[in-house]
Amino acid sequence: MSTAVHKAATRFKNSRWWPTGVATSLVGVAVVALRGCWHRKMSWPIEVQGCKYQVCMSCGIKRLFNETTFSAYGPFRYDLDELIARAATAHTASVSETPRSSA
Ligand SMILES: [Zn+2]
Repeated sequence: MSTAVHKAATRFKNSRWWPTGVATSLVGVAVVALRGCWHRKMSWPIEVQGCKYQVCMSCGIKRLFNETTFSAYGPFRYDLDELIARAATAHTASVSETPRSSA
């Protein structure tokens, strides 16, 4: 039994593909280390000053949330004021565009 494992290990070591596998896993580790949090676990939408956003439960980064489409949009930011300003700008732009499109 151990000789079969040894043979398999030898075959694996002699395979010319093992460096590719090692390199791929090292790149994966490097990407996770450099990227940090993937913001996969987001909170339910929170409303502050008429602006809805989600918070990452792992790192606390915030992202704007559209209730109509029920999806997050825009960039991730740690600064809520920056997100509110961005939402206000987007809202102003959509309001100013509405009369033009209907006329
Ligand atoms: Zn995160």
